[in-house]
Amino acid sequence: MDCIFCKIVAGEIPSKKVHEDELVYAFHDIHPMAPAHILVVPKKHVPSLAHVVAADEGVLGRLLATTARIAEEQGLSQGYRVVISTGPQGGQTVDHLHLHLLGGRQMHWPPG
Ligand code: 5GP
Ligand code: ZN
Repeated sequence: MDCIFCKIVAGEIPSKKVHEDELVYAFHDIHPMAPAHILVVPKKHVPSLAHVVAADEGVLGRLLATTARIAEEQGLSQGYRVVISTGPQGGQTVDHLHLHLLGGRQMHWPPG
């Protein structure tokens, strides 16, 4: 399958790994939008949040819990933001579900 994040999970494209377990993989975003910008993805290819099915609920929980743990490990004690771009109008550019963990600066609302 021609999916960048599947290739990163498989080690076929290099990445700066932050975490790996049997369900999820986390790595630094190649174009960081904040001092800390980490992507947390399921190892299984799920195209987007809109494609999630009941059988994926376990991995969704793992993704969120892992993101919180990584934020703590990265020292983001002042807070952080988690973003899931979904579909064209959501600004999704890679069609493999991913959580953006952003931190290390003040976040603003509304987002772009
Ligand atoms: P989206 O735009 O779908 O919300 O997020 C995709 C993210 O993947 C972007 O922030 C982009 O910088 C990141 N990205 C795209 N290709 C690569 C890559 O090959 N390696 C890494 N580490 N990040 C990537
Ligand atoms: Zn994929």
